[in-house]
Amino acid sequence: MTDKVLTKSLYKTPEAPIKARVDDLLQQMTLREKLGQLTQIFSGRKLAERDPESDAEAIRKGEVGAYIWAQFNAPLRNRIQRFAVEDSRLGIPLIFGMDIIHGNRTTFPIPLGLSCAFEPELFEKAQTIAARESAAEGIDWAFTPMCDLSRDIRWGRVAETCGEDPYLNSLCTAAQVRGLQGQDPSKRDRIAACLKHFVGYGASMGGRDYNETEITEWTLRNGHLPSFKAGVDADALTIMSSFNAIGGIPAAANHHTLTEILRDEWGFKGFVVSDWNAVCEMINWGYASDRADASSLALAAGNDMDMLTNSYLDTLEQEVEAGRFSVAPINLAVRRVLSIKFELGLFDRPYVDEKNWNPDQLSQDGIEIAKETAIKSVVLLKNEGSLPLSPTVKKVGLVGPFGDDPLEMLGCWSERGRPSDVITLAEGLKHALAEGTTLSICHGCALNTLPRTKTLQDGQIVPDEDAPRDDSDLNIDEAVALAKSVDVVVMALGEPRGWTGEQASRSNLGLTGNQQKLFDAVAATGTPIVTVLFSGRPLIVNEVLDESDAVLCAWQPGIRGGEAIAELLTGQASPSGRLTISVPHSVGQVPIYYNRPKTGRPNARNYRDLETVNPRFHFGYGLTYTSFNYSEVSLEKDATGMTQASATITNTGKQAGTETVQMYVRQLACHSGARPEQELRGFQRVHLQAGESATISFKLDDQALGFTNLQGDWQVDTGNYHIWIAPHAHCGEPITYSH
Ligand code: BGC
Repeated sequence: MTDKVLTKSLYKTPEAPIKARVDDLLQQMTLREKLGQLTQIFSGRKLAERDPESDAEAIRKGEVGAYIWAQFNAPLRNRIQRFAVEDSRLGIPLIFGMDIIHGNRTTFPIPLGLSCAFEPELFEKAQTIAARESAAEGIDWAFTPMCDLSRDIRWGRVAETCGEDPYLNSLCTAAQVRGLQGQDPSKRDRIAACLKHFVGYGASMGGRDYNETEITEWTLRNGHLPSFKAGVDADALTIMSSFNAIGGIPAAANHHTLTEILRDEWGFKGFVVSDWNAVCEMINWGYASDRADASSLALAAGNDMDMLTNSYLDTLEQEVEAGRFSVAPINLAVRRVLSIKFELGLFDRPYVDEKNWNPDQLSQDGIEIAKETAIKSVVLLKNEGSLPLSPTVKKVGLVGPFGDDPLEMLGCWSERGRPSDVITLAEGLKHALAEGTTLSICHGCALNTLPRTKTLQDGQIVPDEDAPRDDSDLNIDEAVALAKSVDVVVMALGEPRGWTGEQASRSNLGLTGNQQKLFDAVAATGTPIVTVLFSGRPLIVNEVLDESDAVLCAWQPGIRGGEAIAELLTGQASPSGRLTISVPHSVGQVPIYYNRPKTGRPNARNYRDLETVNPRFHFGYGLTYTSFNYSEVSLEKDATGMTQASATITNTGKQAGTETVQMYVRQLACHSGARPEQELRGFQRVHLQAGESATISFKLDDQALGFTNLQGDWQVDTGNYHIWIAPHAHCGEPITYSH
């Protein structure tokens, strides 16, 4: 054990102001202890082997500041925390971080799915549950929310994003921060948020993960940065820098984004952690010469903590001693890390209460939110009248590998979800179908996909050319026989969860494995088909769309997905989700996003072999079980003199429904830079009974009209704007507003 500081220092006094506690502690720390605070280690493997002692020595010496991705549980966390708090010289607590992306034990729909609810408050509710469960388990810090803007559906990580719109993305980000941190992040049921990945990771070229990005300052300011700014304004405590490079400068050492924008312009006070290994990956990039160079560059640029490489600790002491690196940026970074640890209350309450940890029980409020989020995230893409299922349907078939696979419902990044908590579509239907209606189930084909993959020694996953490519998983005859014997077939198809998320980019975006063959065979029977798609991104499945009577995008819906979808199919709930990412006709159209510049020849931006410039489904699109009429847009001033744009929405169908009314804006001439063809700047969900109308108004205030200029200021120009109030992007006639 290292010599302990026994006297009660100011930093150990809970009543003292945080700044004074940090000052006091900092001046007692050795350079090595300071670098320890900037070091995050990964202990999953060691802890899985139940050997926390293997990290104890480094922790006792004060050489570790943070933990990541361990097999946490409350007693284990406390045991490890004791090495730091009771055995190290200064007793500085560790901060324990973990990827809690869409729920902890209670798994909610993936973020892309949940964003389709167009109800950011739902993210807040879900993250509140995730924070509570995580805090009880001993996690202080979630690597969430992922606020990258995603415009390329080949990128596997679109699943973790809120889609292609900066405005919606910003609202969802802020809501997630509120959910995780609450008003006071030091409360026992709250944890620190981490905005990631700063910045531009979503622009990976070709949708290939970890790839280079080409981002102009204009697109950075108006596309990629707004969600991070919203998260900073919501008081997010930490940020993760990303893997990509902008203009050749890796994000982990990008002074422009990490210091000029984040600190100087936005005044961010928390700390920045690198992404996994990203500091030393700068050597691969060809930006840093060795570990010492990489560490110096990253820390000097404003990347406070190093995730995983240990290179700050291993190299910067020598760099300082040799006079090649100054201690000032180290002090600054340590100050930021310590301040957050104080703010989270870790010094005063380093342990979790093991009695609060109940790993075997889901909470009732969590279950209810899991169901609500699953219902609201489903997007109905097509319905020729098969839905909701009519009472005359007496025999239902459920065909496809996703019908009763609980693991698939949990989706990507759901290590802590348990299949035993999941209600599958099969179970949901058994419960939701009217008495007397039968349900027959057939997988039709296995979920495993061809080509199979193998893992090389260096960890790379590549297609396994030697794997047998037979069709032994295919059970077409049984599926066809079943289809012929029922009134309607619900097909549960999609892409496996392992094919989404990190390192899961795809060049083909159709159904995987033998699912297309299965679909074609079932479609040939002529029995009406309702297809439910499970995926981490929109799939390009034109035949399925053409030949099914109804199609729903259910994403990866979480533990109550099957129940939610069954209630939607049977009409006990009604669909209201809207796409937050455009769905193209073909992979060749990717990236296609609604808020693109109009260009000089808007209608000529086409391919010879495609009849339209448009995607198959626009951003904001989604059907309900009723129909809505939109009046023309009108403008009038309210009592404060603010102009409002309004439209009257009428439910013209036969049943109640929820419409997501969207306002889009275009500035017709902008000398700072041409603005997109349309930008979402307001939306409201409105529930209307059959025949009922409501007038929906949006303020044309600075938030609705402006943009960020190259100096980072919000700018609102005088001039003409087009304003649309519509059911989705690129729909309806605008009104002109002169500002
Ligand atoms: C991912 C991050 C994640 C981190 C820690 C990285 O590979 O890019 O999103 O938070 O690992 O698991």
